[in-house]
Amino acid sequence: MNINWQSVRDETTTLLQNLIRFDTTNPPGNERPCVDYIAKLLKQEDIDLVIYESAPTRANLVARLKGNGSKKPLILMGHVDVVPVEADKWSHPPFGAEIHEGYLYGRGALDMKGPDAVELMTFILLKRMGIPLARDVILEINADEEMGGKLGAGWMIEQHPELVQAEYGITESGGRPFPVMDKEFYVVQTGEKGAARFTLRTRGTPGHASRPHKDNAILKLAAALQKLNEAELPLHVTDTMRRFLETVAAHTGAEGKKLQDLFDPKKFTPTLEALSVPSFSKNVIHSQFHNSIGPTILRAGSKINVIPSIAECEIDCRVVPGQRAKDVEREVRAVLGDSVEIEFQTDTPGIESQPDSPLFETIVRVIQKYVPNTVVVPYLQVGATDARHNTKLGTKVYGFTPTLAPIEEFSRVHGHDERIRISDLEYGTRVLFDVVKEFCAA
Ligand SMILES: [Zn+2]
Repeated sequence: MNINWQSVRDETTTLLQNLIRFDTTNPPGNERPCVDYIAKLLKQEDIDLVIYESAPTRANLVARLKGNGSKKPLILMGHVDVVPVEADKWSHPPFGAEIHEGYLYGRGALDMKGPDAVELMTFILLKRMGIPLARDVILEINADEEMGGKLGAGWMIEQHPELVQAEYGITESGGRPFPVMDKEFYVVQTGEKGAARFTLRTRGTPGHASRPHKDNAILKLAAALQKLNEAELPLHVTDTMRRFLETVAAHTGAEGKKLQDLFDPKKFTPTLEALSVPSFSKNVIHSQFHNSIGPTILRAGSKINVIPSIAECEIDCRVVPGQRAKDVEREVRAVLGDSVEIEFQTDTPGIESQPDSPLFETIVRVIQKYVPNTVVVPYLQVGATDARHNTKLGTKVYGFTPTLAPIEEFSRVHGHDERIRISDLEYGTRVLFDVVKEFCAA
């Protein structure tokens, strides 16, 4: 039986439109109706599934296509919650799923109801084609990814690990063209940073604001933040970034070789500054090599004529794989000494799934069929996905939602006018279907 890709494209498009029309803004999430819709589609295909609510209306779905058991399972992971919108800033309604000039607009089009639709369609096609499998293929659709996954992927690995236990996993992010110096690369996410978020606190002497003095908590905090901003924290070269840059260097001639200067703490900053890439990319590269310091919330004072005794700044620190909160504390103390208090809220390590694996090799083979002159490279994601939960079960998870969209399109993730090209829905489904079929067929 041959696949009619024109009708698959139409079916995937309709599926995505329906997913986007469920408002699953998290908080509060309310994923249940959207998950019920997915369950209905799977049941129509005669696919068994279970739904677990981690809290009222917070639903997680798992379905499975059985293999012959000769190899261990592959899990396709998705999440249906989305981040909030500022609807008045959108050109098209964020939950309207309207199509304009080949693009489908809506919150979640990229993150990640579009990829969900591609995974779902792949899963359904495997069943329809009756492809005999060596491994089980599991589909896991979660709630709550955008708030950390405590009620989603994190809850599932604690409450029902046997349902989502797999040797390999595929989730969002990665699977896209990445041009460097006129050469096309194609990145697959094999690692992601962790988080060691902390509060920076200073204390001072309170008093009447008409008699200002220097022992003011706010001034001390401002000075500390300024110092941190000017400091260069230590460089951390991960296996993933080493592999990434060495591969890029090997394909971009003499100029590309200079990229390897990024491994040298003394040459890192001038090399990065001299790179001919957009400043957005420079920020990403800097973050890929450092525990990043992102001040986001300030708190101090309650009345204009009172000098407060405490000032605080919350810092979203993302740690490179291998680094923990205690390492961040050491790095921050090296700059600020004991003049501040540091209180950590999270200590979530980053993850790296090494790219030496049969799944990665399959991805490379399939991508080279679709994009002949590209070079597939592993990539460290500076944000976080649900992968960090499932890797705790020993699953090797790659971020791979295949697309041909240019890198600029992804600045719309969590932004206004998020959209996906209809042609990429078909491309994504074709590529993912080929990967899963090749990797799992008996
Ligand atoms: Zn996401």
